[in-house]
Amino acid sequence: MPKTQLQRARAGEVTPAIERVAERENRDVEFVREQVAQGQAVVPNNHAHESLDPMVIGREFATKVNANIGNSDETSDLRGELQKLHTSVHYGADTVMDLSTGSNLDAIREANVAHSPVPIGTVPIYEAVKRVDDPADITHELLLDVVEKQAEQGVDYMTIHAGVRMEHLPLTDGRKTGIVSRGGSILAQWMEENGMENPLYAKFEELCEIFAEHDVTVSLGDGLRPGCLADAGDDAQYAELETLGELTRTAWDRGVQVMVEGPGHVPMDEVAANVERQQAVCDGAPFYVLGPLVTDVAPGYDHITSAIGATEAARAGAAMLCYVTPKEHLGLPDETDVRDGLAAYRIAAHSADVANGLPGARDWDDALSEARYAFDWRRQFDLALDPERAREFHDQTLPGDNYKEARFCSMCGVEFCSMRIDQDARDADGEMSAIDDETDLDASPAAEVNRPPVGTHDTERVPDEIEIDGVTFTPESHADD
Ligand code: SF4
Repeated sequence: MPKTQLQRARAGEVTPAIERVAERENRDVEFVREQVAQGQAVVPNNHAHESLDPMVIGREFATKVNANIGNSDETSDLRGELQKLHTSVHYGADTVMDLSTGSNLDAIREANVAHSPVPIGTVPIYEAVKRVDDPADITHELLLDVVEKQAEQGVDYMTIHAGVRMEHLPLTDGRKTGIVSRGGSILAQWMEENGMENPLYAKFEELCEIFAEHDVTVSLGDGLRPGCLADAGDDAQYAELETLGELTRTAWDRGVQVMVEGPGHVPMDEVAANVERQQAVCDGAPFYVLGPLVTDVAPGYDHITSAIGATEAARAGAAMLCYVTPKEHLGLPDETDVRDGLAAYRIAAHSADVANGLPGARDWDDALSEARYAFDWRRQFDLALDPERAREFHDQTLPGDNYKEARFCSMCGVEFCSMRIDQDARDADGEMSAIDDETDLDASPAAEVNRPPVGTHDTERVPDEIEIDGVTFTPESHADD
């Protein structure tokens, strides 16, 4: 049986995936291998995912961003899902979770795996629910079947809400918003109706055998995460976390790569403590957080409320951030929401990487700043986190080619452009020639930075034409593709 990245790293092997990851992160291969061997980082890499470009998730590496896509009973079509995959990778998602709960689940999952250069994650309990009339009818065998089939299809990581236990359920009684995780609420209902322990907890060792066989990374879901500030840090959340620590060690003992998921809704001043507690309880396993949202009062803007919490979480050591879109709590996100959510989260991830002193992270900022001060508008657009939007906004008022080297933009106008005024003043003092030398873009170390030094902002890896069973899908192109 092929071994997992964890088992191979423990044996001292530098796998091709680890070599690739080291190259992408500009880190020493032996350092990457050690981090994986110690469980401090994961390289999600199902043996069957042939189109994957491996990446690493761990607190010592660039903070990663996940985008959720997927259909629902209200919106189900294969082409639409491939379009969302394309959009997600285009705007910089490092991993994509297919959370489909509508029809055509197998075809959508297989198409996503076949065409995705980034790891694909799923939540298998969703498919199990679709296969029965009543969620209480889910059996242990059905759950194992679903997980095994998805592992064979090439899913790289799976959220398993194995930490929600019967003894934890009474702890949620006094909550303002109860159990808000979809998986957590389904499993709580199952336990109450069957009077039995969570089947994912009861069968966790058998699940680990499947994960190890296919090298599926288990992402231990936080089914009791708080759904509002009032419920943050309560006994239910931390009781589940203790179980997640226990399950982390069980999975590691069986050679399975592990991530641990975290909240949710957390006041700003408690975010860092949440991360530190997870790192202590789960022995440094990579922390994968949803947001967290730092206030409950801004539906319609929860990509912002959560990106604030996500920045703080990444600053404190979270390894991957699950994006939240403006539609959170309100509806299924469309493509514009995916773009806005990803931009917010890539800003959060990069800001934390700069603050944490990740090697090379600030080069990107320096390169853009130099282009900005040199009024090199084209280079500024190219270096922008969302080049298309930067160009579009600039060109709304100054569209002509002649404005691409103009020493002002329409924000302050030519008379009040502070950078022009500053440069003219320095020029008068004879300082500008020295500054020009210092900011020679070609001579600057930052000149090599034509894109984020780490990360996956490479859309060409998702082809526009995709053929499945003799049918060609051509996702609509983005305006500037
Ligand atoms: S006009 Fe204002 S915003 Fe525009 S380049 Fe000059 S200083 Fe910057």
